This record gives sequence, structure tokens and C-alpha cells, in this order.
Amino acid sequence: MNHFQPIDGVLHAEGVSLTDLAGQVGTPVYIYSTATLERHYRVMSEAVAIHRGALGDALVAFAVKANSNVSVLATLARLGCGADTVSEGEIRRALKAGIPANRIIFSGVGKTDAELAYALGIGVRQINVESPSELDRLITVAARSDACPDIAIRVNPKVGAGGHAKITTGGEGDKFGIPAEEALALYARAAACPYVRPVGLACHIGSQITDLAPLEAAFLLLRQMTMSLREQGLEVTRLDLGGGLGVPYHGGAPTASPADYVAMAARVLDGLGVEAVFEPGRLLAANAGILLSRVIQITERAADGSGTGRQFMVLDAAMNDLIRPAMYDAFHEVVPVTPRPGGPVIYDIVGPVCETGDTFARDRTMAPVQPGDLVAFTGAGAYGAVMSSEYNTRPLVPEVLVRNADWAVVRPRPSYDDMLGRETTADWLIDA
Ligand SMILES: *Cc1c(COP(=O)(O)O)cnc(C)c1O
Repeated sequence: MNHFQPIDGVLHAEGVSLTDLAGQVGTPVYIYSTATLERHYRVMSEAVAIHRGALGDALVAFAVKANSNVSVLATLARLGCGADTVSEGEIRRALKAGIPANRIIFSGVGKTDAELAYALGIGVRQINVESPSELDRLITVAARSDACPDIAIRVNPKVGAGGHAKITTGGEGDKFGIPAEEALALYARAAACPYVRPVGLACHIGSQITDLAPLEAAFLLLRQMTMSLREQGLEVTRLDLGGGLGVPYHGGAPTASPADYVAMAARVLDGLGVEAVFEPGRLLAANAGILLSRVIQITERAADGSGTGRQFMVLDAAMNDLIRPAMYDAFHEVVPVTPRPGGPVIYDIVGPVCETGDTFARDRTMAPVQPGDLVAFTGAGAYGAVMSSEYNTRPLVPEVLVRNADWAVVRPRPSYDDMLGRETTADWLIDA
């Protein structure tokens, strides 16, 4: 459920009319709903609280890469949410948003020595080690400081899952995590080292997963590995279950609800006496955001020979603002903010960037629109603004956070002067 609903025929974000908002901020623009973010976090945290017996004092750590806007993070931080981060920049954002270091997890396949040193310096809750060579580097960095970080070994359970090959991370040939046998040996090696303290295992098998079976298989493997480590006399107190639960981009009910997902995790972990960590990204943010765009024009082009015209809906949003359709063939519903009467029309929905890939949807049947109309891409709150760029020298898309009838621009649209002012001309190119 989300809080983007029509009021008197006009789509609103909570109590704010998207027509008014577009008039004041311009388009394209991302708009996030506080109530939806809060609701999604609570669904997770309440499910986790119900299963405290099996999951311990579990942490829900939002995967910052899904939406790293500091106001979005601060909204979640106030509810007690932690952060799963993959770079020093994300850690800095989480801290700025008020997420304490002891609720920040540092993951990622390519942490630099400098980033590891930074994470040690601020005392993150846990560093997820993703390869033997990373463990070696972390030990070297830790030995130089007086920190002894809690670490988890990221296991590759070899159960690939997820909505698209580019977002599967747990398959055999993926670059993420360490195969089980090797991970057990690495855990023992880390336990014998005075500079790091292994506390548990981690996994994350993919994204937009709508079937619980692969997740359950991965969690079961973590359980078995925990038992086998304990048989060797090693302590395991934490299991990081990653993120990955999918959301219904096509509307309707999710195939696996957060409550079912947490209940499944509780079943698998029951009796282990570990503290669980959940790292949802998309689940919390996707349906808490939309991308609002205006129709520049409708171009009709006859298909070769057929005589039937294709209707191109050309928007002022482009692949640089929302790259998911181009990169992952992702589906986003596109809905008119103020629906017009009339039967459905079939559109190719495109942006103005000079690439064929700048196509949001082909042969999309939807309500008719006219030039100047506003449309909203729903489910755009995760992996939307974070992946935006200034390709084609289009100003970076702004972000707005709504709360009830209030709204705030939380990332302003840069002016052209701002954009050009960030570059410096090589001194030999400056005319004397
Ligand atoms: C991307 C990522 C997540 C979040 O994935 P979602 O599909 O957005 O829930 C969680 N943990 C790790 C380690 C990740 O890389």
C-alpha cells in the first residue's frame, strides 16, 4: 500500500497535489512519501518483533544504495532503522541522517583500504568480508589501528535468484561472496586472528525476489554453517540475511509478503540463538516514490508499410533520470496525474535522450494523454534517483519529500551555471 492516491480526480502524494507540486518545482522530479516509507519500515520491524524469540534483537538495516537521499534516511533513522552501506560515501550519508555507527553495516565487494580504515575509525557495527583477499587487507588495516572490528563472512550460497541477470548476486558465477567450504575455513582463520572478531555469516542472493524458496535455501545453508562452525568451537552470534525481497511493480498484492518472509526466516533460524540482520532496500523505498514527468509531445510515426501509426509519448524525463527500464528491462506503471476521458491508447513511452535505449515502455496500453499533461512513474523510489546522471547535460533530477500536506525539496535541481561551474578549464585552453 502507498500514499499516492487520487483526490478529486488529481493524483496526490499524501495531501499534496502533484499538479501544484509540478507547478512549483518543475519536472522531472522524484517525490517520496514519508507515510509510505514509515509504513514499509513498520511492517518489517513489527514482523521482526513478533519473532524476537527466533531472530533475537534483530536489526533492520535499510540498503542505502536503493535510495540514499539524506532526508529519506533520516525519516527511517527516526524509527530506529539501521543502514547497510557499500561505500564510505554511503556511510557518511547514513551518519549525516542520524543513523548511529553501531547500526551501520559495511558491505561490498571492493572496499578500499581507505574506506576500511574510515569504517574502523567511526566504529561501524559490522564489516561484511566478501573475499579472502579482503580479509587480509582488513587485518592489515585493523592491525594499524586499535580497533578490532566485528566481521561477518559473506557466503555465496549458489542459489541465484532475482528479477534480472544483472541483479542476481548469489549465483555460481557471480562476483559476490565466498563458497560455503571456503567461507568456513576463512571464518576459522579470522577467529584465530587478534585484529578482527568474526561474529557471523552474511548472504544476499539477489534483488526483486518474489519467491521465498531460494531465500529459504540460502538461510538454511547459513544455519548449517553456523552449526558446523560451532562444532569447531567457534562462536556465531549474528546472521545477516541480506535484502532482496521483491515488490509488486504491476500493482496488486506481493507474491510473498514481508510478514511471510520474516516468518520464514524465523522458522529457519529458530533455536540457533542468533541475532538476525535484515537489509531491505527496494522493499522499503520502491513504492514510496514516484517520478513525475510532463508530456512534451505526442509524435505519430507510421510503421513501415503497415499504415498504422505508432504513438510516441515523448516525456521530459529520460533514461538519465530513471535508468531501470533501459538497464534491467524493468516495468514501471505510468499513470496520468489527471486522467482524461476516453478509451485506452497504445503508446511507446520515450525520453528525449539520443539513444534508442531511452525507451521507458513499448506498446503500453494506458489512458490517453496530451502534450503538457503530467504522468507519474510509480514504484520509482528505489534504484531511481540514486542512479540518475546528467547525461546529455540534463540537470540532475531533483527530489522532494512529502509529509502530510508539507513538502520539501530535499535535493534541488542544479542550474546550468551550477553544472558548468563544477568543471574547470585546463589552463592551456584558457585564452590569454
Ligand atoms: C543491494 C543489497 C541489498 C538490498 O537489496 P534489495 O533488493 O534492494 O532489498 C541488501 N544487501 C546487500 C549486501 C546488497 O548489496
